[in-house]
Amino acid sequence: MQTHDTQTHGTQTHGTQTFGMRIGGAWVPAADGGTFDSLDPATGNPWAAIARGSAADVDAAVRDADAAFRSSGWPTLTATDRGVLLTRLADLVLEHLEELVEVESRDNGKSRKELRTSLRTMAGWYRYYGGMADKVQGEVIPVDRAASLNYTVLEPYGVVAAILPWNSPLRLAAWKVAPALAAGNAVVLKPSEHASASNLVFNELFTKAGFPPGVVNVVTGLGPEVVPDLVAHPLVRKVSFTGGVGAGRLVGELAARHLTPCTLELGGKSPQIVFADADLDRAADGICAGVFASGGQTCLAGSRLLVHAAVHDALLARITERAARLRVGDPADPATDVGPVATATQYAAIQEHIEAARASGAVAVLDEPDATGRFALPTVFDGVGRHDRLFQEEVFGPVLAVTSFDTEDEAVELANDVPFGLAAGVWTRDLARAHRVAGRVEAGTVWINTYRNTVPQSPFGGYKASGVGRESGFDGIREYLRTKSVWVDLAGPAEGSGNA
Ligand code: NAD
Repeated sequence: MQTHDTQTHGTQTHGTQTFGMRIGGAWVPAADGGTFDSLDPATGNPWAAIARGSAADVDAAVRDADAAFRSSGWPTLTATDRGVLLTRLADLVLEHLEELVEVESRDNGKSRKELRTSLRTMAGWYRYYGGMADKVQGEVIPVDRAASLNYTVLEPYGVVAAILPWNSPLRLAAWKVAPALAAGNAVVLKPSEHASASNLVFNELFTKAGFPPGVVNVVTGLGPEVVPDLVAHPLVRKVSFTGGVGAGRLVGELAARHLTPCTLELGGKSPQIVFADADLDRAADGICAGVFASGGQTCLAGSRLLVHAAVHDALLARITERAARLRVGDPADPATDVGPVATATQYAAIQEHIEAARASGAVAVLDEPDATGRFALPTVFDGVGRHDRLFQEEVFGPVLAVTSFDTEDEAVELANDVPFGLAAGVWTRDLARAHRVAGRVEAGTVWINTYRNTVPQSPFGGYKASGVGRESGFDGIREYLRTKSVWVDLAGPAEGSGNA
């Protein structure tokens, strides 16, 4: 990817790059020329100046996307052609993998080792929905009317507003953009102000793959200054949001006021339920990967360990031994497992949760302070009660809350006793128990003797406060299609009416 505009992306000023927005396949500064700093989480210093959008920029991005949806080469492409473009984009992801890893790691601090795997597999979403584009079909309905034909057509909405968090900007964009484009929509992306650059750079690949300009636009800026205008824009026909419950509720309420359908992928407080017969080594691996990977900055973090009292000590010993081996540090270092916390605000929020856990009487099993104030180290609290904040609230950091149980009923009841329902892990060798518990847990995804698998083919999303709607799989594309019912009268004119 080369610099396209020295006024915007690519300008080097004392080591700082300036990024414009991406509208109509071009780099565009904010209408009022404003920018904001994006900080490098590893140093805390600004590394990029990003265009600070406002209502005028939102309007320009949405109108351009709407024009692309209605009158560019996009609506005349066949579904098969759209699929070919998405497949080409998947290939380009792999060709440009290292550049994308570099930018995203710089922006949100995720270790390059972890990002490389995450972005390589992200190509799979574009490939999967590229293959699905020409398999979208309606039905002929056997209606209860003589001489009538009734069929359904699945149609795109038009402009989709896709709003993203900072923890996995490119991967979470793919979960929305790939199915939305396969269905024939246009998209206006609004990345988080804490990690905008990767989606800006990635946008050039749509042009390179051959998508008409404007089919995917990126508008940047601070959430409160951009998101309300985007969600409320009269040409936005569908909203898809990923982020925290607070902003999600605002977006959902605003969309509802405008009667715009809205998918919400929100937070979690997912339980890892370990029974006494579990393979404790495998469980410890899954629990550590579930809550410490990405420094716990994932929605699906398995942040509550519910463990049978009989194996409590043996499991905790395994977890702390593994956690202590994780290398936390410079995300660019190939040996680093976990990078810094993405923002200073998030770092402070994690520390505040740790203080509250201590005050509630929970026992710190593993809890080392970090002198730099940027890296959160794996932390484990034992004896966490169901009413404690650490049990009920999402930390979005590497903090595991441990609670013991004695019976299966108690385990299920504890698992469900939180506002969230994104995911759950069940660890047992008892097949009947595994399926029984999977059925009783209120969560959109249940992993049995594994954790953290997400693939393009399998639907993902929340129960309860963890969200509305699904991403990935067949469910994922349905979020971007609306059903039209078409009736045909087959009787024709009555005999002798003169219209033969
Ligand atoms: P966030 O809610 O702060 O921000 C998400 C988006 O909303 C950003 O683009 C931001 O600009 C915008 N926004 C924030 N506050 C706003 C406001 N007051 N008005 C209008 N717009 C606003 O989320 P985050 O901190 O970037 O990400 C972390 C959250 O995302 C966690 O809760 C995590 O669980 C959730 N998440 C969920 C999933 C999932 O698939 N369910 C995936 C990743 C992250």
